[in-house]
Amino acid sequence: MILLDGKKTSADIKEEIKAEVSLLKKKGVKVPHLAAILVGNDGASQTYVGAKVKACEYVGFTSTLIRLDDNTTEEELLNKVREVNNNVDIDGLIVQLPLPKHISEIKVTETISPDKDVDGFHPANVGKMALNLPSYLPATPAGIMELLARYDVDTVGKHCVVIGRSHIVGSPMSILMARNTKPGNSTVTLTHSRTQNLKEITLQADIIIVALGKPEFLTADMVKDGVVIVDVGITRVPSTETKSGFRLKGDVKFDEVAEKSSFITPVPGGVGPMTIVSLMMNTLQAVKSRL
Ligand code: NAP
Repeated sequence: MILLDGKKTSADIKEEIKAEVSLLKKKGVKVPHLAAILVGNDGASQTYVGAKVKACEYVGFTSTLIRLDDNTTEEELLNKVREVNNNVDIDGLIVQLPLPKHISEIKVTETISPDKDVDGFHPANVGKMALNLPSYLPATPAGIMELLARYDVDTVGKHCVVIGRSHIVGSPMSILMARNTKPGNSTVTLTHSRTQNLKEITLQADIIIVALGKPEFLTADMVKDGVVIVDVGITRVPSTETKSGFRLKGDVKFDEVAEKSSFITPVPGGVGPMTIVSLMMNTLQAVKSRL
């Protein structure tokens, strides 16, 4: 079994980005600038945004964190997005999800300029991705593709089963794995909560990408020997053993599934850190595409 080590791979990629940024500086090109909007005080969201800002600083990007309180109206948030769209100094914008219930996520996503949509959620970017045209790819699926590429995982003609069809993970993941790219060219089955006989399907899978948000959902009896496992799930479960009072669990029962796997991502240290570097890669791309 080979561990698909997202922590190490993302650290390598950060060094590559850092080197590119210092080259840009030497050439007198402005360094990439990522803006993040965070609405409210959700603990997990604050952690994710904090990690993104820290990663920006590490690679030499400029970052701006815009914090808005829970009572921010939809119009106020949309105006803030428009303000960032019009700010020529900012190259990429992310709005941390989820948003408070009174704000429409789709309206916000559609308001972000597709040119600055480094999360790759705007319908224009999703459409381009489906058509295999150059676009910003959604960060988590793009990070997974990068991890598979760097470990040279063979995906051609393989049966890839994706569990979960969210707009940010499962659905784009199924599109990317089916595209005529490397990695890619898999035969993809996209499954969800209405799928019948899931175990029969996963038992046929060469690659399983699990993104449903149910801790330890995928067990050893559901996979065949030699399977490649990508565990996207991150759930905070209460723990008396950690200072924070919780620990992170993936969607895969790691110890038993690892024994049958050829490659597997750990949680934490697998897909999570790759998501952040994808965002950095997209932001760097935003600057390079204008050179
Ligand atoms: P989501 O929007 O809640 O979607 C979950 C998906 O799982 C839905 O499509 C749902 O089906 C499906 N599902 C639920 N129960 C199922 C079952 N029993 N069998 C098969 N499918 C089932 O979740 P998400 O945003 O994609 O996130 C999934 C997990 O990944 C979460 O733990 C999240 O924290 C994590 N995540 C991690 C990263 C990272 O960087 N590592 C990034 C994003 C998300 P229906 O569509 O039918 O409801």
